[in-house]
Amino acid sequence: PVYLDNNATTALDPTVLQTMMPWLTNNYGNAASNSHSFGWEAQRAVEQARMSIAHAINAASPSDIIFTSGATEANNLALNGLQLPPGRSHIITPMIEHRSVLACCVRLAAQGTPITYLRPQSDGIVSLNELNNALRPETGLVSVMAANNETGTLQKIEEIGALCRDRGILFHTDATQAFGKIALDVQRMNISLAAFSAHKIYGPKGVGALYVNTADERLRLSPQIVGGGQEHGLRSGTLNVPGIVGFGRAAEIAMINLPSELVRLSGLRNRLKQALFDTVPNISINGHPHECLPGVLNIAFSGVDASSLLLELPDIALSSASACSSKHQTPSHVLQAMGASVAQIQASVRISIGRFNNEKDIVWAGGRLIDAVSLLRSMAPIPQK
Ligand code: PLP
Repeated sequence: PVYLDNNATTALDPTVLQTMMPWLTNNYGNAASNSHSFGWEAQRAVEQARMSIAHAINAASPSDIIFTSGATEANNLALNGLQLPPGRSHIITPMIEHRSVLACCVRLAAQGTPITYLRPQSDGIVSLNELNNALRPETGLVSVMAANNETGTLQKIEEIGALCRDRGILFHTDATQAFGKIALDVQRMNISLAAFSAHKIYGPKGVGALYVNTADERLRLSPQIVGGGQEHGLRSGTLNVPGIVGFGRAAEIAMINLPSELVRLSGLRNRLKQALFDTVPNISINGHPHECLPGVLNIAFSGVDASSLLLELPDIALSSASACSSKHQTPSHVLQAMGASVAQIQASVRISIGRFNNEKDIVWAGGRLIDAVSLLRSMAPIPQK
């Protein structure tokens, strides 16, 4: 089987597992135990990982990194935890955000927070003009994801950061899909808060982080999980030392490989895209054709039911909606917001290529995909143009 669902989750890199192993076995100390070497060693390992994450995004200080159980929790801490000053409670976010952001917004709205949901352009990009027009004197936070999980489309994070800087607005970005794949610089991009997850970058599941620009005094977060006061009181609970160590190592590896993987994965994606466009009629790309994550291709095969297509290809891991939302049997809110018809959404498949895929995988999967599409189309009651 070939795994092409790397936006849902990634395989644990064997090097990462190796780095984690001592912390899963002999070095079982609690990072908060400060009276013996078991605790000190665990704490040192956690701080090393914190430095690696901070370094990867050019954070001013390692203490800007708060470890969480993943990006869902990081987004919850950012959005539910942020104490916006009176008169600045308005939040702007696009309709294409991950559900962990949108669900927070729905809850905040129910509590009286004014929220504006921006519709993206049909290519999935949030227009700066639209964002500008949505700003109000009481806008306190803009939350825009760096890269979309379904389409891979990249947002103009640096420009949005600059706009927020000019207007004195805080800026949160869900950088879960972008981290480790494209360059991120929280200082240059004027990012106040950012969410990350280890399992999207060949690290373990169940660990992530929230970047908090602690130098910004306007940023007041109230913890969502209270208890022993770990992570500066922002996230209580015994630290997941093996997970955090693995996350740190995964981030280091991702940063070392970032430039070469950007080229290699884009090459594989373009090759697959070309093969599909050369042989399969009536297909189209969902999302921006170039401004996107290197390994992601979201394609609508007109007239083909994506779930039937996936059933035809049980040995290829693909996704017909985002893994996180496939439980919701509703058509993708992302493609819907971009203006896609229900028929187009039902015909769409996400292919996400990753570190452990090679050219052979792509050629083989491409061939299988082409055959399956033509088979399903030949069985369709209405002949395709
Ligand atoms: N945000 C985005 C853009 C994602 O793709 C995901 C992945 O499912 C998440 C947030 C949630 O991350 P986690 O699985 O770490 O909670």
